[in-house]
Formats: sequence, structure tokens, C-alpha cells
Amino acid sequence: MAVPKRRVSHARQGKRRSHHHLKPRQNTYCHRCGSAILPHYVCWNCGYYNIQGKEVVAVEEEEK
Ligand SMILES: [Zn+2]
Repeated sequence: MAVPKRRVSHARQGKRRSHHHLKPRQNTYCHRCGSAILPHYVCWNCGYYNIQGKEVVAVEEEEK
């Protein structure tokens, strides 16, 4: 609610801002290789999507 700045007590301001925090990023672990992945994303490490899954993205070998 629009109110002059000085009229809002610190407690009230704090209550309003109690919802301003950020949620931590959710991550899950690849069923195939166990590396941390974002949900609904293809695994960066092995290129698989889910348990039954097939290789969705071919992973290139790293060059030495
Ligand atoms: Zn993987």
C-alpha cells in the first residue's frame, strides 16, 4: 500500500520484506552418472535425459 516512507515502522517494513528472499536452486542427480543436474534438463555430463532414457545428445570427447 502506498504510504509515505517515514510512516512505515521498521517492524512493518521487515514483515513486508520477509517474503523477498530468494529460493535456492533445486538440483537433482543424474540417474546414470550421478552428477548434479537441473530438473527437466539433459545431463551435461553424459547426455542422457531420464532413467529409461536414451542418449539424447551425443557427448563429444574432450580433446587433449
Ligand atoms: Zn549423466
